[in-house]
Amino acid sequence: MTGGLLFTTVPGLPVVPLPAKGEALNSWIWAIARTYGLMPKTYLRRLGIPHRWLTKAIEQDLVIQPLPSVMERLQADTGMAPDVVWGMTFFGLDRELEDACRRHHAPCAACVNEASERAGRPVGLLHARAAWRIVCPDHLPTPKPMEMADSLPLVPFHGQVRTIIRFLDRAAFDPRAFEGIVGTRMAPAFTVTVFLRFVFLLNAYLSVQITEFDELRDWAGFRIRRTFTRNEAGEPLPLPPEEGNDPAISLVLAWQLVAAPIRTLLAGLHTVNPVHRKTARDTGQLIALACLLLEFWPGEMLTPLLTRLALSRQDWNGDGDRTGLAIATTAPWSNDPSHSARLAEAHWTHTAWTRVLFSDAIRNHHTRRVSRFPAAGPFRWRFLAANGQAAPLIGEIRREARQSGRKKPASLGLFLAKPVPATREAHAAPPQPVSVPAIPTHIA
Ligand SMILES: [Zn+2]
Repeated sequence: MTGGLLFTTVPGLPVVPLPAKGEALNSWIWAIARTYGLMPKTYLRRLGIPHRWLTKAIEQDLVIQPLPSVMERLQADTGMAPDVVWGMTFFGLDRELEDACRRHHAPCAACVNEASERAGRPVGLLHARAAWRIVCPDHLPTPKPMEMADSLPLVPFHGQVRTIIRFLDRAAFDPRAFEGIVGTRMAPAFTVTVFLRFVFLLNAYLSVQITEFDELRDWAGFRIRRTFTRNEAGEPLPLPPEEGNDPAISLVLAWQLVAAPIRTLLAGLHTVNPVHRKTARDTGQLIALACLLLEFWPGEMLTPLLTRLALSRQDWNGDGDRTGLAIATTAPWSNDPSHSARLAEAHWTHTAWTRVLFSDAIRNHHTRRVSRFPAAGPFRWRFLAANGQAAPLIGEIRREARQSGRKKPASLGLFLAKPVPATREAHAAPPQPVSVPAIPTHIA
């Protein structure tokens, strides 16, 4: 709506209310009808919509699946440029997101008030139906002290939330958008729908506090406050609402876990107690985090934790044993006074992760069923890293598994295959049917 012409033809109607910035098509059509004292239905019939389609869902239909013939008629009536009229719809939306957007209606009250005041009439905004707009990028929440250390500046945090929402605004219409974030090989596994599911999973089962924010790199550092507990049947229970994070916090955490998984795990997301004062509570948190991530990630996303190079212990400055990966992920801070503490924390986390991945806790919780969470993991094929740096190790484990005459285990099962019987595959079966696209086999 910016720059180009608003009107391209002479309107068929004598008076046309101008669309407000960001207005949804249905809201504008209602405004046109109101201008002429018509019932919206009457005007919709004039636009060529059959009577039987004039149901309660018509407002969503107009925005999500606009009919070209109706749009042409509307364009002729109003004289508006086609891209202005189409721009009030979700034309070109990723098909997978359609259902979510149909159900979603969460207008930001402040945005609606501003738009309505400016237009001098009630305005409904298109983004109210955007399921990925978890928070309004123009009216961001101020995190509670339990969610963000109070000495931290708000501006860079808000800046990152805005960047993520803008990215999702684009990715909802561009299936290749994730290539720029996770690379071409992993990109087909990530869609806006998948990412949203991850955000909601984290939000329901994990509560964190942002403890630092690197303004230069736009990295947030987190400490886990609480993780989910399980009921007697072993099912995970969502956190009580008052303990949960604002969705904006979970959004930033999910983003960092997707964009830089290993760095976030080792150098960005720490358990509750600082290093040298870790307790069983820290281990418990790490196990919970592993269970949570394994619902979403294919085991291969964790393979960088388990490669030989990552695990190889190197004497670092004569300062005791550190894993290669701990050294690598904390390298950006090598000139920072905090470096040795960060390195020690990353080393603890890395060692704990590798232990957790082979532990009984993981084995027991990930045996018979793929998912104990409401949203099953989205991955159909779990060999995404097959051509990556971890490939030789994965290949080796697979070969060993085959030679020993076992059924070929998948995913985490590859790594559990050694310490546990191969029949107890963790995460091996494909998830229950979920509305996600099949990952093309060429990735496998
Ligand atoms: Zn707003």
